Amino acid sequence: MARIPEHILDQIRQANDVVEVIGTYLPLKRKGTGYWTLCPFHKEKTPSFQVNPQKQIWHCFGCGAGGNVFRFLMQYEGLEFIDAVRRLAERVGIPLALEDAPHALTRSEKDMLLALHEAAANFFHHNLLQEKFAEPARAYLNQRQISLATAKKWRLGYSPDSWDALLEWAKSKEFTPNQLETAGLAVRGHRGLYDRFRGRLMFPICDEQGRPVAFSGRILTDAQDQPKYVNSPETPIFQKGKILFALDKAKRSILDEKFAIVCEGQIDAISCHEAGITNVVAPQGTALTEQHARILKRYTDEIVLMFDADAAGKKAAHRSADALLAAGLVIRVAVLPGDHDPDSFVKEAGADALRKLIADAPGFFAYLLDGLLREHNPRSDRGKLHIAQQVVAFTAKVSNAVLRSACIRETAERLDLPETALLAELKKHKSHLHAAPVPETVPTEAMPAPPAEELLLQMMLMDDRAIALAEQRLDRQWLSPSRAAALIGDILADRHWAGPESFLNRLKDEEASRLVSALLMRPPGRGEPVTIAADCLATLERTWLEGESRRLRKSLTQKGLTAPEILEIQGRILDLRRRMDHIASLLTPRTKQ
Ligand SMILES: [Zn+2]
Repeated sequence: MARIPEHILDQIRQANDVVEVIGTYLPLKRKGTGYWTLCPFHKEKTPSFQVNPQKQIWHCFGCGAGGNVFRFLMQYEGLEFIDAVRRLAERVGIPLALEDAPHALTRSEKDMLLALHEAAANFFHHNLLQEKFAEPARAYLNQRQISLATAKKWRLGYSPDSWDALLEWAKSKEFTPNQLETAGLAVRGHRGLYDRFRGRLMFPICDEQGRPVAFSGRILTDAQDQPKYVNSPETPIFQKGKILFALDKAKRSILDEKFAIVCEGQIDAISCHEAGITNVVAPQGTALTEQHARILKRYTDEIVLMFDADAAGKKAAHRSADALLAAGLVIRVAVLPGDHDPDSFVKEAGADALRKLIADAPGFFAYLLDGLLREHNPRSDRGKLHIAQQVVAFTAKVSNAVLRSACIRETAERLDLPETALLAELKKHKSHLHAAPVPETVPTEAMPAPPAEELLLQMMLMDDRAIALAEQRLDRQWLSPSRAAALIGDILADRHWAGPESFLNRLKDEEASRLVSALLMRPPGRGEPVTIAADCLATLERTWLEGESRRLRKSLTQKGLTAPEILEIQGRILDLRRRMDHIASLLTPRTKQ
């Protein structure tokens, strides 16, 4: 990954005042030393989201989200760290030189491709709205009940029915034929380059920031000798496994609604949005990839699959579920009645009916089990066997133990089998699988930190002298495997400590960012930070000593110890005792409240 030098990060952060930046997204009200507003990351009626201008951080006292200005952009806009940095750098006009990024695109090539797609989208769009030759496309829109306003909002277009219309247009715009080929808009044949999209309704495929990076072109006739859809090939700016159609328009409402709806086609997604159901996206192709699942996971934990009722749709739902389960997402399935797809259903039955269908959508397992019970006879042994096999195969993929046992219980009831039989099958099934690598999205849940660790970390963030003290006195073996302890270690390992604000730049982990911002917002407590830190260190040491002496006393009870060994252990226990007494005399007496 491209790396940005630390001092540039700090420069960008300092130039982007956190109050100013967040103020462009949310209405901030000054109260006391901070600015307050309703938290955009959880639903609430009274503001618990605070922006602190002195510390240049934000924190929600309701849901615990927090961090610096980069983290806000990442979370609010759903950006990667590097893209948040890029945006804020652009905002204040700081040029970004990316260190050692040999595989990254040169800025100029990426810029060229983006500019070319932007211009081509305008060209296609202009054709659709203005040109006489686009009449068949307008007739098609009419037939599909897609209004002109909708076509404008989604920048739909029309590619002329010709072999070189786009190539000719490009000349006037000073794009070369080779650039069109790189962008996937032109294809090389025996007699040179020709337009990829000919006589098609054009859907621009946009990235998360709403910039066109590819196109999907739909045929307007019933011609059987041509594919219904022609799509851009993968290019340096377009990887289809990573792009979700309409995500740029849906991301805000996915955060608000707390779930995302995934349907199959672009027209389905557009129709839902136009009907006011705006948390809808569509993958390019029929099934979701694990990368798609990871992108969605940045916005929500719950996905509603809304695929066609036909066999292909069912298959796509099953394949998509695998990717979503692997990312730890909760899945529901909205089943459309009859031959409907989301587009035809919303047009016939209306938005409210579709909303109800979505609200009532059963969990994926209930959907799976219902389907199996319809396909196989649960009263025959053969049917039972089929159903049990598929349930077991599915259940093995569920990582959550509670969900897993709920699946088993429900199946046992519906098949009238003892749970133990299914559990035995599950165990057999799992032993056949190779140990799967842990997916990178599964958070490694850190232990809750002892209060003294969090307090010590807070003091270290507040006062450099507390860091110096910890450097002198802290023994790493006193620390638990908590996140706070890991952060204490990070600070001590930091040779160029430049304060908590720039420390936050380096925290790529959302949980770590939440913890640090929460500690920075916490009232400092009574007394000098150094004194409090000294108390924390003493508490940590004492806790460790107590544990050690418990361990040693226990080892005294084992059989076969020789007399010298017993003496040796007793001596060490005595040492520990002395150290504990010494610490007790050091601890400052707490002022009584
Ligand atoms: Zn919140």
